[in-house]
Amino acid sequence: MNYKKISVASVAVGMFAASAAFAQNAEIATWSGFRKGAASFTFDDGAPSHVTDAGPTFKKYGYKATFNLVVNWNPNWSGFQGLADEGHEIASHSNSHGNNMSGEEASSKKSIENHIKQKYGIVTVAYPNCNVPNESAVLQNYIVGRICNGSWQGMSDAMGKDGPSNWAKTPAIMTGSEGQLKSTNDFTGQMQNVVKSNGWVAFLTHGFQGKTNGNANYSPTDLNAIDGALKWAQQNDKDIWVAPMGSVAMYIKERKASKIEPQDGGAANTMTFELKHSIADNISKYDYPLSIKVKTDWTKVEVTQGDAKLESKVDGGYVYFDAVPNAGKIVVKNADAAAPESSSSAPESSSSEAELSSSSTTGLIEQAFDGRHLAAYVDASGYITVQNAQGLNITVFNSLGNIIRTTKGIGCEQKVYTGAKGVYVVKIGNRAWSLKIK
Ligand SMILES: [Zn+2]
Repeated sequence: MNYKKISVASVAVGMFAASAAFAQNAEIATWSGFRKGAASFTFDDGAPSHVTDAGPTFKKYGYKATFNLVVNWNPNWSGFQGLADEGHEIASHSNSHGNNMSGEEASSKKSIENHIKQKYGIVTVAYPNCNVPNESAVLQNYIVGRICNGSWQGMSDAMGKDGPSNWAKTPAIMTGSEGQLKSTNDFTGQMQNVVKSNGWVAFLTHGFQGKTNGNANYSPTDLNAIDGALKWAQQNDKDIWVAPMGSVAMYIKERKASKIEPQDGGAANTMTFELKHSIADNISKYDYPLSIKVKTDWTKVEVTQGDAKLESKVDGGYVYFDAVPNAGKIVVKNADAAAPESSSSAPESSSSEAELSSSSTTGLIEQAFDGRHLAAYVDASGYITVQNAQGLNITVFNSLGNIIRTTKGIGCEQKVYTGAKGVYVVKIGNRAWSLKIK
């Protein structure tokens, strides 16, 4: 096993990151949300069941996948547009499903873009029959070219934190009756491995057992196995980042090319940063938000970028937020210093806040917070926000009763979720609030 190799490498990376953070006071996360690993679910051949069965399953857990369509197989365009509207990625799997893409690298991208509107257009492709086509045509049109199992080409199945060595050969592990992954445990085992190695794993699924699969009849997968995998991911959401191929690829490319640098001349109670990269191609905008942490003694902060207020949290001497590269100066402001005392609605004194955020065991926090004033509300910018939930489980349900967010209480005030207008239920510990996002 190469376990030793992995742990030595991650220690070295950790040390480098720590010294860079000390020098710059700011650090870009390896993965979104400072999670430890990433996983992408991809679905080939545009099966009817992808719309009718995969979509609702992913919706249940709030995760997004990648759906690779074959133009000439007449996919359910409006159904897949619906998935795109919910934040899933629609991607290419060629026009005719011929070997080596039959030269359809550019034309299939165009054809699908004629049917499907999504933010970045069609930016990733999965090769029919696992054959790598013209690599330069792929890389002129897509940020990811997906093969099948890496091990089928003498590579490894999972990737490291920087993705594949060649973006035209991004591996994904086949699932289902003909594939390596059949059960929930098979999926979660792979996700546990990338959490340990700080890597990225992608899954390749066709249709589902007992569902309407159209042309996607190769290697059907038990949908319950995927349901269980997503359930596990949700329970481990602080460690595993589940996101479409295009999102993860953008994040990696931006993270590798970006620098976050402090700016001189800030006022005493503000810190100003620039987050920049110079990636330029005609495929993507590379404006996927990167997760940042900045060292601070402040217990309450407000973070803005340009005109936008960013969701942030303070924990363990850092402020955490997501910012978009090349989108203007980031300003971190000491909110305690800026706000007049009487206008603060937070019931706790600032000294107890400081004590709590530096304390690290849940048990201590719960004891210290006996008789705490729990609160949940929708703030002016439309975020479901909770107060004094340190150490408690927070769950947000939509009006159908589906769980759309689970997290742990951190910090005295915490933005938890924002989404479409409607009624939501937020549960903190064993208490619940019904809230409306307008
Ligand atoms: Zn296929």
